[in-house]
Amino acid sequence: MAARPMPYLDELNPAQRDAVERLDGPVLMLAGAGTGKTKALTARIAHLLSTGRARPNEILSVTFTNKAAREMKNRVGRLLGQPAEGMPWLGTFHSICVKLLRRHAELVDLKSNFTILDTDDQLRLLKQLIQAANIDDKRWPARMLAGIIDDWKNRALTPDKVPAADAGAYNHKGIEIYAQYQTRLRELNAVDFGDLLLHMVTIFQTHQDVLAQYQRWFRYILVDEYQDTNVAQYLWLRLLARAHKNICCVGDDDQSIYGWRGAEVGNILRFEKDFPGAYVVRLEQNYRSTPHILAAASNVIRGNESRLGKELWTDAQDGEKVRLIGHWDGEEEARWIGEEIDAMQGGTRGARPFNLDEIAILVRASHQMRAFEDRFLTIGLPYKVIGGPRFYERMEIRDAMAYFRLVVSPGDDLAFERIVNTPKRGLGDKAQQTIQMTARENGVSLVDGARIAVDNGLIKGKGGKALRELIDGLARWNAMMRGPKIEVDDDSVIDDGTAPKRFGEPEVSHIELAQIILDESGYTAHWQNEKTPEAPGRLENLKELVNQLDNFENLQGFLEHVSLVMDNEKESDGAKVSIMTLHAAKGLEFPAVFLPGWEDGLFPSQRSMDESGIKGLEEERRLAYVGITRAEEICTISFAANRRVFGQWQNAMPSRFIDELPEDHVEVLTPPGLYGGGPPTAGIETRAAEANVYNSPGWRRLQARQGQYGTSQPRESRNTVIDATAVASFTLGERVFHQKFGYGAVIGIEGDKVEVDFEKAGLKKVVSRFLSAKDD
Ligand code: ATP
Ligand code: MG
Repeated sequence: MAARPMPYLDELNPAQRDAVERLDGPVLMLAGAGTGKTKALTARIAHLLSTGRARPNEILSVTFTNKAAREMKNRVGRLLGQPAEGMPWLGTFHSICVKLLRRHAELVDLKSNFTILDTDDQLRLLKQLIQAANIDDKRWPARMLAGIIDDWKNRALTPDKVPAADAGAYNHKGIEIYAQYQTRLRELNAVDFGDLLLHMVTIFQTHQDVLAQYQRWFRYILVDEYQDTNVAQYLWLRLLARAHKNICCVGDDDQSIYGWRGAEVGNILRFEKDFPGAYVVRLEQNYRSTPHILAAASNVIRGNESRLGKELWTDAQDGEKVRLIGHWDGEEEARWIGEEIDAMQGGTRGARPFNLDEIAILVRASHQMRAFEDRFLTIGLPYKVIGGPRFYERMEIRDAMAYFRLVVSPGDDLAFERIVNTPKRGLGDKAQQTIQMTARENGVSLVDGARIAVDNGLIKGKGGKALRELIDGLARWNAMMRGPKIEVDDDSVIDDGTAPKRFGEPEVSHIELAQIILDESGYTAHWQNEKTPEAPGRLENLKELVNQLDNFENLQGFLEHVSLVMDNEKESDGAKVSIMTLHAAKGLEFPAVFLPGWEDGLFPSQRSMDESGIKGLEEERRLAYVGITRAEEICTISFAANRRVFGQWQNAMPSRFIDELPEDHVEVLTPPGLYGGGPPTAGIETRAAEANVYNSPGWRRLQARQGQYGTSQPRESRNTVIDATAVASFTLGERVFHQKFGYGAVIGIEGDKVEVDFEKAGLKKVVSRFLSAKDD
C-alpha cells in the first residue's frame, strides 16, 4: 500500500495520537471540555480512511446533532485534503436508525414506507385507547402516558419487558395501553420517535443473521458525546460492537446534560465492564480556553459530588478574567450586552476587534432570547438563533400574536385562519372551507363568515359549538379592549375625533387582557396539557410575551412594534452573533461568550431547586460548566436584580453558581446604572416604585459580593413600596394592590379571578396574578 501523507497526526498531542492510532479494539476517551476529543475522533476517521482500514461506508459514526455531523464530514474532508464523500453512516442515532429500519421494517411487521408520527398524532392515538379503556383522561392526561411510554422506550423496554415495579404506572393501565398502542402503530404502518431505536434493538436481538451482517458491515464504530446516550442507544451500540469490538467512544461525565431525556451517564462507567481491556485515554490539556476561564469552569464543577473527577490545564496566555456584572433588569442586561458587542466589534473592548460570528449568547431558557432579539433588532445588530426559530417566529408566539391581531382587527383573515383550529376545535378542512365560502359569498371577513355559517347551521355539532365560543370570545375580548360603551345623547355630533369619547376606560389592562385571551381561548391549556419536553419552554415563552407588553401602552402599540422590528430585519449573509440555549451549545466553541440570567430560579432552574436531592441541581451545574467552557478568550456572566414574572417585577437572587466562581479569576464590572451614576433608563424611577431592588435579598447578596471583590458600593437605598408576589393566593379581606386600580380589599375569590373593592375604582374582578399582596 502506498504511504499516504498523514498531516492530521502532526496536529495531535501524544495522548490524542495514541487514541487515534490504536484502531483496533475498544477505546474510551474520557476527558474534560476542550481537550480535543472531537478533534481526535475526526482524525481517527481520517486515519481509518487513509490507512485503508475501512471504506467510508464501513464506518459508523454517531454525533449528537445533524449540525455536528455536517461539521465532522467537513473536517474529515479537510484533514484528508479531499471532500469526504459518501460517509453514509455518519449522523445522529435517529437519522441512522431510520435508514436501517426502512431496510428491515418487515421484521417488526412494518412496511418500509412507514410514517413517523409527530406528537399530535401520537397523542390522538393514545387518547382513543385511553377512552376505550374507560379512563378519565382529565385525571390521567394522555400526555402523561406519552411521557411514560417515551421513558420506557428510552430504556429499550418493549411492553412485555416493562418491569413489575412499573405495573402501577398510569392508574395500573400503563403497560396494557402501551401494548395496545404498539399494536395500533403497526396496524397504521407507523412509528413514533422512540420506536426508531427500540425496533432496531429488537431486530438485532431477535435476528442474529441481520445483526451479524451489520457487525461485519460496520467495521469501526465511533461515538461523540457519549455521556448523553440513553439505554436503548447504548444497547444498540453494544450489540453492533460485540463481535469485533472496534468501538471508540468519547465523552465527558461533567457535560452530561440530558438526564431529563433519559440519558444515563452510567453508560460511561459500564463501558469498561462491557468491553474488558478497553483502552482508556484521558486527556487533560485544554486547547480552547484561557487559564482564567478554565479555572472558573473547574471551580464551579468541583461543587458536584457525583463525578469521576479530572483536572484540566492549559498553556495558553492568561488573557482576561471572567467578567461578572449585575444589572437592574433583563432589558438592561440586553442593552448592555448589545453595547459590549458593538465595542468588541469596534476593537475598543477586548484585546482585538471581534467578528460577529466569534460571539455567542448562551441562555438557560429560550424565553430569555426575546429581550436580546428585540434589542438587537432595534439597534440593527445581525444575529441568528441556533437550534430553533427566533422568538417572534416561534409557533406559540405566532399563534398568540394571531389571537391579539384578531382582537385588535377582527378583519385579519390570515390571523383567523391560523387560529381557527388552534387549539383543536374539531374544525376540519370541510368546516374551514364552509367558512371561506360563506365569507366570500357575503363579502365579509372570515370571522363574520364564520358567524353567519354557525347561525345558519352550516357548521354543526361539536365543531360548531366550539366555533361559536371562539367568535363570542373574540367579540368579548374586543369589547374588553375598548372599554364600556358610553351613550352620547347628542346625535348631531359626528364622530370626527372631536366628538365626545364613546368608550369608557377599559376595565382590564392590556396585559391582563392578553392573559385572558390566551387562557379563555384554551391556548394556554393546550400547552399545559402537553407533556412533551418542549411544552414547558413554550409556556415560558408565552409568559415572556405577556411580560413584554408592559413596555407598551396597549396591544396595538405592541403589534406595531413587532411588525416594525421584524421588517427591519433583512436577511443578510454576513457575520452574525449566535444566540442559543446552553443545551444547543454542546460541543461548540466561540472566542467570546455571554452567559446572561445567572439567577436562582432561572439558572439553576426553579424545578431543579425544588427537587429534593441534588440530582437536578448537579445537572444544572454541569450545564454551567458546559457554558463557561464554550468560551475561548472572553467569558461574561451576568444577572439581573429584577425579572418580570407573570407581568410582575420580582427580586431575583444572583445564582448560587456565582458564589462558586473563584475570586482570583473573576473581575466584577460596574454598570453605570446600578452603582455610581443615575438610573440607566428613563423608566427606572417608576420601576423603582414597583419593586424594591435595593432592599432585596438578592441585592444584599450582591452588595456582600461586591465587598468581597472590593469594588464600589451601590448608591443610597430606597424604601420599599411594593413587594411583588408571583403566584398570588389571597384571603378574604386582604389588602391588595393593582397597577391600574390601586389599593383595595379582597371580597371574593373565584378560581384565579379575585373580586376586589378598590378604594378609588370601586368593585372589580381581576385576574389574581395581577394583584400583589400589600401587608403593611
Ligand atoms: P467538548 O468537550 O467541548 O466537546 P472537545 O474535547 O471535543 O470539547 P475539541 O472541540 O475537539 O474538544 O477541541 C477544542 C479545541 O482545541 C478546538 O479548537 C481544537 O481544534 C483544539 N485542539 C484540540 N486538540 C489540539 C491539539 N493537539 N493542538 C492544538 N489544538 C487542538
Ligand atoms: Mg467535542
